[in-house]
Amino acid sequence: MRLVMKFGGTAVDSGKKIVHIANLIKSYHDKGNEIIGVFSAVTGMTDEILNVSEYVLKRDKKKIKDFINKTRAIHVDIIQNCIRNKNYKAKALQVVEVLLEEMENILNGVVLLTEVTEKAMDYLLSFGERLLTPIVSYSLLDKGLDSVYLTGKEAGILTDSKFGQARPLIDTTKIRVKYHIDPLLKENKIPVITGFIGADQNGNITTLGRSGSDYTATIIAVCIEADEVWLWTDVNGLMTADPQIVKEAKVLKEVSFAEAIELSLFGAKYMHPRALEPVMDTKIPIRIRNAFNLSNEGTIISKNPSKSSQKIVKSIIAIRNTALIDVSGGGMVGAPGTAAKIFDALARKSVNIMMISQSPSESSISMVVKKDDLDTAITTLDLTLLDKVIKNVRVNEDVAVVAVVGSGMRGIKGIAAKVFSSVSKNSINVIMIAQGSSELNLAFVVNNVDCEKAVKSLHEAFMLTKVN
Ligand code: ADP
Ligand code: ASP
Ligand code: MG
Repeated sequence: MRLVMKFGGTAVDSGKKIVHIANLIKSYHDKGNEIIGVFSAVTGMTDEILNVSEYVLKRDKKKIKDFINKTRAIHVDIIQNCIRNKNYKAKALQVVEVLLEEMENILNGVVLLTEVTEKAMDYLLSFGERLLTPIVSYSLLDKGLDSVYLTGKEAGILTDSKFGQARPLIDTTKIRVKYHIDPLLKENKIPVITGFIGADQNGNITTLGRSGSDYTATIIAVCIEADEVWLWTDVNGLMTADPQIVKEAKVLKEVSFAEAIELSLFGAKYMHPRALEPVMDTKIPIRIRNAFNLSNEGTIISKNPSKSSQKIVKSIIAIRNTALIDVSGGGMVGAPGTAAKIFDALARKSVNIMMISQSPSESSISMVVKKDDLDTAITTLDLTLLDKVIKNVRVNEDVAVVAVVGSGMRGIKGIAAKVFSSVSKNSINVIMIAQGSSELNLAFVVNNVDCEKAVKSLHEAFMLTKVN
């Protein structure tokens, strides 16, 4: 089989884990499979780069040295513990050193300019994955496998120029990726490709958005007509709830593309929202598996899961770090186009609205946005619409969204009643409710402090420990 295997940051954050992954790849390769590896950065690396950029913008130069030293220590430690051959070890250390020097120079440039453009930010972010892939590739060579490392750009992923949220131009990408990767596979090499990264038509590095490595894996898979995509991670698969909230959460054996998209759209941490787009119209299934628990088969995401897996509710999702914005004003009543004006103004600033509800009186509209977008959202509303279209803007920063997801909810009566009676039994106040017309989800907003309690109570009410 031709398998694209993506490894998340949690699977590669120590030398010991990389040795384990290299053995895992070797065992599948030895069985006659063609393997294409896609790797994220070490856990936390992308966040660290974002953090240091913020300090640097405030002219905090000392943070640069600290950051570079810490990053060096992490990667050198990994190299020392996953590559035995002296020659390969020296080469990996050298690549890392060259990358660190370049990153330091760029950060020092940012201090001088006190500005970092979106283009520069994507370039900076790319160092996270670029630091790791050479290490993985040398550790495969160390095991006697033939391997080369490439960036997503070198692999042929062409994107638009929307830095931070780039989308692949799939037709050209197909031709390019095939051109670069097929010959490597013919030579029995294992390509190790950076996740998260592409390049636009001018050759600038772009990133595909947070968790973009999942997306890279599916893009590569359609380009080279892979048989399956395996997303290796640190949990056993997609679960009935975040195991960090519900200890007894169970792994879902089968999930449809539609359900998985719903799960990722709700911002659950484990998949890029667009990661399934490239494979939706193909027969390529996605498996999510635990790299450290091979006895577990994980979750399979496919177009047509078996009938028996069509349970009423599949998963309870909690989305923290969200904020509720209420806009109101007498002038909104009976004024056509008010909502359009609000959403348009926010869309222009790339603010993603996660949930919307309007009171029947039309005098107020509530919206949920990610906290990261809150500042931009409020400034935009104040600057463009206040006193023209709307009168008041109120914000509640301390909310969380809880969503109940599952295809079996479609057309079944009483789901909402069950959800809200369970929540109210636990004295949780529901602030806002929305149901997607697909009926694949029912989402509501609660105060942040009530979030865990709500997830636990729904998990119990729908008896999700008994799925599969
Ligand atoms: P990776 O580094 O492999 O990309 P992520 O950190 O992006 O992994 O996502 C995996 C994490 O997602 C898990 O460690 C788990 O805590 C969290 N998670 C949240 N909700 C769920 C869920 N319903 N099923 C599985 N994992 C979940
Ligand atoms: N390193 C990137 C992130 O943290 C991409 C990924 O992990 O998939 O978002
Ligand atoms: Mg991820």
